[in-house]
Amino acid sequence: MQTVLTRDPREAARFIKRGETVAFPTETVYGLGANLFDEAAVAKIFAAKQRPPDNPLIAHISDLRDLDLIAENINATARKLIETFFPAPLTLVLHKRARVPFAATAGLETIGVRMPRYELALEFIRACRAPVAAPSANLSGRPSPTTWQAVKEDLEGRIACILIDEQTEIGLESTVVDCTSEAPRILRAGSVTLEQLRAVVPEIQLANIKIENEPARSPGMKYRHYAPRARVHLIKDANELAAREIATREQIESAYIGLREPKDLSRLKICRVCASVEDYARELFRFFRACDAADVQTIFCERVEEKGLGAALMERLRKAADESE
Ligand code: AMP
Ligand code: MG
Repeated sequence: MQTVLTRDPREAARFIKRGETVAFPTETVYGLGANLFDEAAVAKIFAAKQRPPDNPLIAHISDLRDLDLIAENINATARKLIETFFPAPLTLVLHKRARVPFAATAGLETIGVRMPRYELALEFIRACRAPVAAPSANLSGRPSPTTWQAVKEDLEGRIACILIDEQTEIGLESTVVDCTSEAPRILRAGSVTLEQLRAVVPEIQLANIKIENEPARSPGMKYRHYAPRARVHLIKDANELAAREIATREQIESAYIGLREPKDLSRLKICRVCASVEDYARELFRFFRACDAADVQTIFCERVEEKGLGAALMERLRKAADESE
C-alpha cells in the first residue's frame, strides 16, 4: 500500500470516508484513526499496528454534541469533567452505545472518549463527519510517535495516509479516567494531572496499577509500552551516572536524558539535558527512538518528582524500565 503524505486535513479525511486508516497529530501524540462506526476500517488499525485485539481504542470527537452518538448513561462526575476540561488531553471511559462496534472497545461495554484541543486534529475529525477511533500511531510495543517521521518509520506502507505536521506539544498520551466504576479512577496519568482532577472531583482515585485476577481495565496496564530496544535504568540524579560501575563498552553505547547535566559527558553517545519537566515529557519518546536508531544499548533516565506532569512522565519511565511488574 502506498502511504500518502499530506498537510491538508480535508484530503486526509477523504481516506477515512473511504474506510481507510490515517495517522494525524493531536496535542498528545500522533493517532492512527479510522471511522469508529466502520468495523472493517477499525480492524485495519489493529492490523497495521499489530495491536492485540484486547486493547481498546479511543473515540475522538470534534464536537461535544457527538458524545451522545457514542456514550450513554453519562453520570454527574463525567459531566463535570467534560464541562471543566473538554477539549483536552483527557480521555473519559463511559458506557458505550450499542452501535459502537466491540472491535473498537476490545469487547468491553465501555468506550474511551476524547475531544482533542489541537485545532488541526479538530479540523481533521470534523472533516471526517464521524467519530474517529484512534490509538497511538506506532507499531504495538514501540514508543508512541510524537513526529510524523516516527509514524512513517513504523507504519509506511501499512496505512493509507499521514497528515503531516509539527512535533506534538505534550509528547505523552492522554490522561485516562474511568467514570464507569463506583469511584472515578485514573487509569493512565497524563498532562491533565491528578491535582487538577482532584480540584473538580475530590473523590477521584489512582487506579491500582496491577489488580490480581481483574481483566486489564486499561491496556496501558497490561502491555509493555513506551519501550525502546535498549535497557532503561532510572537514576536518582545525573551524578549517579559517574558513580555507577559500568563496563567501558556499555558506557560508550549508553545515552542519558534528564533535567541536570551529568558530569562526564564524554562517554555518552546521546545526551539530552531538558529545560523543564514539560520539555522532558515532550522529548522522551523521540529520544527513545533516536537511541534505537543509534543502536544504544543502555539508557539512563533521571527520575523526576512525582507531582503534576512529573507523575505522568514517571509512569512512562517506569514502564520503559519495566519497574511496573
Ligand atoms: P493508546 O492511545 O495506544 O494507548 O490506546 C488507547 C488507550 O485508551 C488505552 O491505552 C487505554 O488506556 C484507553 N482506553 C480506551 N478505551 C478504554 C476502555 N473502554 N477502558 C479502559 N481504557 C480504555
Ligand atoms: Mg499506544
